Amino acid sequence: MCIIRLTDDQPDLSIVIPVYNEEESLPELIRRTELACRGLSVKAEVILVDDGSSDHSMEIIHDAVQRFPQLFVGVVLSTNFGQHAAVMAGFQQSRGKFVITMDADLQNPPEEIPRVLDMLLQGYDVVGTIRQRRQDSTFRLWGSHLVNLMVRQLCHGRTMTDYGCMLRGYSRKVVDAVLQCGENGKFIPILAMSYARRTVEITVSHAERMAGKSKYSCLKLISLLFDLLTGTSNFPLRLMTFSGFFIALFGVLFGLVVFVISQIDKSWGAEGVFALFAIAFVLMGCQFIGLGLLGEYVGKIHHNTRQRPQFFVEQVIVGQPQAAAEETPEQKLAG
Ligand code: UDP
Ligand code: MG
Repeated sequence: MCIIRLTDDQPDLSIVIPVYNEEESLPELIRRTELACRGLSVKAEVILVDDGSSDHSMEIIHDAVQRFPQLFVGVVLSTNFGQHAAVMAGFQQSRGKFVITMDADLQNPPEEIPRVLDMLLQGYDVVGTIRQRRQDSTFRLWGSHLVNLMVRQLCHGRTMTDYGCMLRGYSRKVVDAVLQCGENGKFIPILAMSYARRTVEITVSHAERMAGKSKYSCLKLISLLFDLLTGTSNFPLRLMTFSGFFIALFGVLFGLVVFVISQIDKSWGAEGVFALFAIAFVLMGCQFIGLGLLGEYVGKIHHNTRQRPQFFVEQVIVGQPQAAAEETPEQKLAG
C-alpha cells in the first residue's frame, strides 16, 4: 500500500472514497467534493483509496493531491481487494474525529456531506442514510430490498433501513472498533451498528451512475449475498438441524400410519416398500440433524476465528474520593 499525503495538519473530518476504475467520474467527483468541503465548518481530509484500478484513476488521484494538498490524500492498494477492504484501508489512514464514506461514481452527491456531518456533530455514532428516489435498475432495487430484509432479520440489536447506501457517517470511536475486528470480509455497517451507542438515519438524494458500469455483476452480487448470510448468522446451519427434525418426525409418523393400515389390511403396504420409505425418512432426518450439529461446531470455530472484540468500554465513571466528598463547606473554604 502506498500513501500520498502532502500535509500533516490534523483534520476533524475524514471522507473515505473507494475508487476502482472510475477515471470518467473522478474529475467531477474531485471538483464537487472539494467544493462541498470548502463550505464545511470543520477541517476535512478526503481519502481516495485506489483499489487496484487498471485505468487512469491513480494518476487522477495523484493530480488531485498535488493540486489540493491540504484536502486530498491518496491511498493506493497493490491490487483489487474489493470495496469493503478499500474502505477499511481508508479507515486505517483516516485521522478525523468523524469519518464519512461515499462512492466514487457520484451516485452519492457530495453536496449531502454537510447534512451527514451535522448529525455527527450532534453526537451520533453512526449516521445511516436512506436513498430517496433510487436511480438503479429494478433488479438491483429488488436485490437491495431482499438484502435489507435479510440483514434486519438475521442481525440482533440495532439495524439500518438501507444497508446499500455507502454515504454514511461514523464517529472515531466506532471506526476504531471496526478496525479492531480481526475478521476478513467485514460488512462495515453491520459491525458499526453493533458498536454504536447513538444512531440516526436521514434521507439523502441519489443519482444515476455518472459514467461507466457498476462493478458488481450478478455473480458478484450473489457471492456477496452468501458472504453476508454466512458472515452475519448461524441461522442457515440451524435450518439444517430443524429440517432434520421435521424429516425424521415425518418418517416416524409415516411409519406409524403404514403400520396401522397394514394391520387392518394385510395386502396394503406394497410389500414393505412404504415401511422402507418411512425408515429412509427417519435416517435422512438423522443425517440432517448430525450435519446441523457438526455445523454448530464449525459455526463456533468461525465465530471465534473472527476475533471480534466482545465489548468496548466508552468511559469509566469514578466517584470522588470519600474524604473529599465528605468535606464540609467550611473545610472547603479553609482549604
Ligand atoms: N469499488 C471498489 N472496489 C471494487 C468494486 C467497487 O473500490 O472492487 C468502488 C467503486 O469504485 C465505487 C464503489 O466501490 O466507488 C461502489 O461501486 P459500484 O458503484 O460499482 O457499486 P453499485 O453502486 O453498483 O452498488
Ligand atoms: Mg454505484
